[in-house]
Amino acid sequence: MTIERRMKSVKFEITNGSLEKLARGAGDAALDAAAVLREGAAAAARHAEEISSRVRLEQEIRDLRQEIRLQMQAAGEIVYAAHRGGPSDSDRIQTILEYVDGLYEELEAHQRESETLRGHLICPACGAANHSDCLYCQNCGKPLSRQ
Ligand SMILES: [Zn+2]
Repeated sequence: MTIERRMKSVKFEITNGSLEKLARGAGDAALDAAAVLREGAAAAARHAEEISSRVRLEQEIRDLRQEIRLQMQAAGEIVYAAHRGGPSDSDRIQTILEYVDGLYEELEAHQRESETLRGHLICPACGAANHSDCLYCQNCGKPLSRQ
């Protein structure tokens, strides 16, 4: 092998080696980018899920409030009629009020969940909003539940 030829082959090996290193580097960078993208997508999905469950909760809270209003109006109309000499339908009022009690309980549960999603915990005893890292209510001292 002439010196010139040997030099060429050494040069080629170096070039080849650097290319390989370059390719490996590019591959690593691509893997890193893919990992970042995957992480970003997962975080975005989590965020979207959180937002959609918050939107759904808020819609349900609005629906519950609307239903409570309608039921209270129905009860009020019966009371009004009774005071105006109409039939006193106390059984029906009782049924409506029990239903409304259930709606209020559901509403409170939804509001607690909504506050928790926003990073707050609603005290089950006094209704105060506490930061999510509190173990006890800052207002009344009762333990805060995380469910
Ligand atoms: Zn409290």
